[in-house]
Amino acid sequence: MKITVLAGGVGGAKFLRGLRQHLRETLPDGRGGTTAVVTVVVNTGDDLWLTGLRVCPDLDSIMYTLGGANDEVRGWGRLGESERVSAELTAYGVGWPWFTLGDLDLGTHITRSHLLRQGLTLSEATAEITARWNLGVTLLPMSDQPVETHVVVADDGAAGAGGSDTRTDTRTGTRTMHFEEWWVHYRASLPALRFEQHGLESATAAPGVVQAILDADVVLVAPSNPVVSIGTILPVPGILEALQTTAAPVVGVSPIISGSPVRGMAKACLDAIGVPVAADAVGLHYGSRSGAGGGFLDAWLIDESDAALASGIEAAGIRVSVVPLWMSTVELATALAADALAAARPALAV
Ligand code: GDP
Ligand code: CA
Repeated sequence: MKITVLAGGVGGAKFLRGLRQHLRETLPDGRGGTTAVVTVVVNTGDDLWLTGLRVCPDLDSIMYTLGGANDEVRGWGRLGESERVSAELTAYGVGWPWFTLGDLDLGTHITRSHLLRQGLTLSEATAEITARWNLGVTLLPMSDQPVETHVVVADDGAAGAGGSDTRTDTRTGTRTMHFEEWWVHYRASLPALRFEQHGLESATAAPGVVQAILDADVVLVAPSNPVVSIGTILPVPGILEALQTTAAPVVGVSPIISGSPVRGMAKACLDAIGVPVAADAVGLHYGSRSGAGGGFLDAWLIDESDAALASGIEAAGIRVSVVPLWMSTVELATALAADALAAARPALAV
């Protein structure tokens, strides 16, 4: 069985850990792994150059989580992390003091930057870096070209956080900054006027991405941020078209439960694109593959607390499964992954 998953960072990682566990239990290969082939198309819109290093937050969140090296309590980064190098960088006045690069994490960024400077593409570098971790899945960046998410806000005359990419346009009264500056430094508190994907015009999907969607037996859309994780993968040339034309059923999992983004600041992102923070609204935003609206979903998983929303989603031509969506333990994430595959089954030819 070939499964292709679209994912952002932390939400995607939690879902993937459950999926891997479910597949190890139901399709074991006899060596502790699974016979299923899982390919993950990962958002790289958060990526940035910082102190000369290429940082890929979502790729690394998934890698550390599936590699068993993530900090469960903090929710991101490496377990047992220290920050001595970051303190030195701050003393030198380089980098972003509020964007801590942990010492262990820096090992990944240095390795990646080294490989990129040797001429490897991001997908080649990712294959080299992930080889160490025995993830049980293949991580593909959505694109080998940088397609960085930037956020346009009203220019309030503030000095800004010193982001190298920050630009002020006095004509329109706006300020544009890298997504990570808006998200981490400002905690998404500056109302976003819009999101821009810098580099999209010259980007292509990374090798294997479109094929992985077209060749899959099932495509899963992880409960990731609909705007700045899934929403940044979709416009990469070829990806939305592949979702719409693949013979595989496309099943999405709502990242919204009871009108809340569970954890994190996704509300600020949805507000910016005018989509209510609701499980039905996000499903309808992704849209039905069978309708004329250019959507890509066959089925959508919503939480039991949102059961009343099912009929409105089904009226739009999207099958709905009402199941527990909380992934607070690996067991719950495993059950959720099983439910997502079960939702694909009516259309599965396997
Ligand atoms: P990021 O790149 O690290 O922000 O991570 P993602 O984009 O992959 O996922 C973030 C989103 O995951 C959040 O906005 C939440 O909506 C969603 N999320 C987090 N935990 C859960 C959970 O337990 N269940 C569900 N259904 N969604 C979750
Ligand atoms: Ca992210």
